[in-house]
Amino acid sequence: MECTVLTASKSSGISNGLTYEAPEGSVGIGSPVLVPLRKKMTEGIVLALNEKRENTFDVKAIKQALSANPLLPSFHIQTLRWMAEKYMCTLRQAIAIFLPSLSWKDLLPKEQKTYRLSGKKIEGIKGKKQRTVCDYLLGKDAVEASALREETGCSLATLRSLLEKGVLTEETSTKSSLPSSPANITWPTLTDVQQSVASSIAKEDRPSLLFGITSSGKTEVYAQMIAEAVTSGKSAILLVPEILLTEHCIHRFQALLSPERIQVVHSRLTPSARKAAWRACRAGEVDLVIGSRSALFSPLENLGLVVIDEEHEWTYKNEQTPRYHARETAEALCRFAGAKLLLGTATPSLESWQRAKGGVYHLVRLPDRYKGHALPAVRVVDLADVTFGKSYPFSPPLFEAIEQRLKMGEQSILFLNRRGLASALLCLECRRRVVSPDSQLPFTVHRGIDGRSRLIDHTTNLTVEAPKYCPHCGSASLREVGAGTVRIEDILLERFPQARILRADKDTLTHPEHMRLLLQKMRQGQADILLGTQSVVKGLDLPHVTLAAVLIADIGLSLPHFRAGERIFQLLTQLTGRSGRAQPGEVIIQTFRPQAPEVRLAAEHKTEEYLDTELKLRVHAGYPPATEMVRLLTRGTGAAHRAQAVATDARERARTHTGELHISCAPTLFGGGKVWHVLLRGNDSRSLLAHLSLEDMIVDIDPVECV
Ligand code: ADP
Ligand code: ZN
Repeated sequence: MECTVLTASKSSGISNGLTYEAPEGSVGIGSPVLVPLRKKMTEGIVLALNEKRENTFDVKAIKQALSANPLLPSFHIQTLRWMAEKYMCTLRQAIAIFLPSLSWKDLLPKEQKTYRLSGKKIEGIKGKKQRTVCDYLLGKDAVEASALREETGCSLATLRSLLEKGVLTEETSTKSSLPSSPANITWPTLTDVQQSVASSIAKEDRPSLLFGITSSGKTEVYAQMIAEAVTSGKSAILLVPEILLTEHCIHRFQALLSPERIQVVHSRLTPSARKAAWRACRAGEVDLVIGSRSALFSPLENLGLVVIDEEHEWTYKNEQTPRYHARETAEALCRFAGAKLLLGTATPSLESWQRAKGGVYHLVRLPDRYKGHALPAVRVVDLADVTFGKSYPFSPPLFEAIEQRLKMGEQSILFLNRRGLASALLCLECRRRVVSPDSQLPFTVHRGIDGRSRLIDHTTNLTVEAPKYCPHCGSASLREVGAGTVRIEDILLERFPQARILRADKDTLTHPEHMRLLLQKMRQGQADILLGTQSVVKGLDLPHVTLAAVLIADIGLSLPHFRAGERIFQLLTQLTGRSGRAQPGEVIIQTFRPQAPEVRLAAEHKTEEYLDTELKLRVHAGYPPATEMVRLLTRGTGAAHRAQAVATDARERARTHTGELHISCAPTLFGGGKVWHVLLRGNDSRSLLAHLSLEDMIVDIDPVECV
């Protein structure tokens, strides 16, 4: 029999496996093996078994199977192959995210030696140490070496000498797993609506999209589904977008299942904690894994359910090779494992929405908040009508609202939209942005050394002088929007010297503990205002918050990105979910474009209408998910040259391509001119890649970032 073995060796050229010969029945798919490679022995894993071909020579034999059990379950091997094909990476690049250690042997179940009295001869025992060991073992069953040494203080030499004398016998056992009897489950008490949603998901074979507004009880539905999986002897994985925000969620599930059967996995674990977690999963000691995107690859044997909370979040995309998306990959993994997939969100991604509408996903809704709590009233403040003076971007209504909260002893959350990285040119008259004729995306404003403003299209590299008058309506009221959020804390302190302000952004939160303390302060009423960037403050469940506000909703819009509107909509909907969770609350949206669909529809809580409108736009303009997109990235010396060469080549090839294909080439927005990308967009744009020479190019299939 022949088998394909992926070796741990880093040499290029063999990163998709090598053929070896193995005796019939000696290995299976997933088996860890030792194989000869260039005069050395190397670890490997069996990916496939093949019939022996005729007339093959030079096929070496595997040296040894390292364990009787597979290192990875077979659905992992299938997912691995799927990933390599879908994301155009090598199998070795893909396997790195499945195995948390460079030494694969390290991951095999630790074998423990156990000792017991042979019962044959008791003579010949010499010395106090040997006597202690025998006394200890008297009347006991087999005892593990580590326990024996700890209890008696004996050395390995003592044990060896007792073995030689035949006083003890030695056995090898792999660590036994904890009893897999169903954990103590405290079932959630679902409302009728939640119950009918859960039953409908349970009956369904397709992946389910649970579209439930903020605070509708999606977490309770997850709890129900997880409890059902665990009672039927299966395990589950719950993915969350950001580990900083999952503490309350972990508590929720510790109340559902025995805490020791829950494993939390995230990128901040030390390498040894990561390995221990992996081993615990592999040994069947875990019923539920909670973690960020890489937790999807936990080796649970009997996987019955994968839940992805906040499925629209961008953190589910891995921005390093393999550049996988956890949602897409979970779909494949669940198919191979025969497990159920449940996606939950208050603002579905356009990708999932399209699939739900097309019947690929089973769509279920929770349209009301738990106990019928009302959604907060939303006020939209038109920034174009405000005279700011020094307090930009605080409008008088926002100041008033904060002041009122301070007087009442209630709390406020203020969102800073992504720190002003890019500015767009906006007309205060017609409220339209100056857009590039090439991509129809907004131009980015750059100030040259001569102090003059230029507009650059970062998807095509088109550069033009900033106009004096609006190209749409001729007005001279053009304003740069984007920057200006830096001084916000100072302005607040100046205006409300007595207010206790907490700031939460990537700079102040360098450790999960910081976030925990900050939330504790808010919960215990030791702070009045939480000021944070969106990635940090969304998802919070703080009962005393009655005002949530976004300072400038349009900053994200000035990013030249086809998903900019979708991001703003998600942010604004999140905002409405933060306020008034326990008592009536208010939301304030400050914006230059109150009539933009993402602003207007978010303020009116009309999510479906927004999704349908946006999906139509994408179809019309030929952007994902209506088309397929590929991004080719290159950095370092010669990046511009390489990117342009690939783009030229691609354009040449595209002539014979069926269907419309857009190809653009430009430096990236934040790459300082050193990083270039080529974007391919159209029907089956992937198929073109096979014909291009992609050396020194990073391939990103279905990119999330593309500016
Ligand atoms: P979502 O995940 O949809 O935003 P949550 O699951 O966090 O909503 O629920 C919002 C709040 O309502 C939470 O405090 C939760 O404990 C409570 N809640 C929702 N459903 C139930 C239920 N069936 N029983 C008890 N509390 C519930
Ligand atoms: Zn105008």
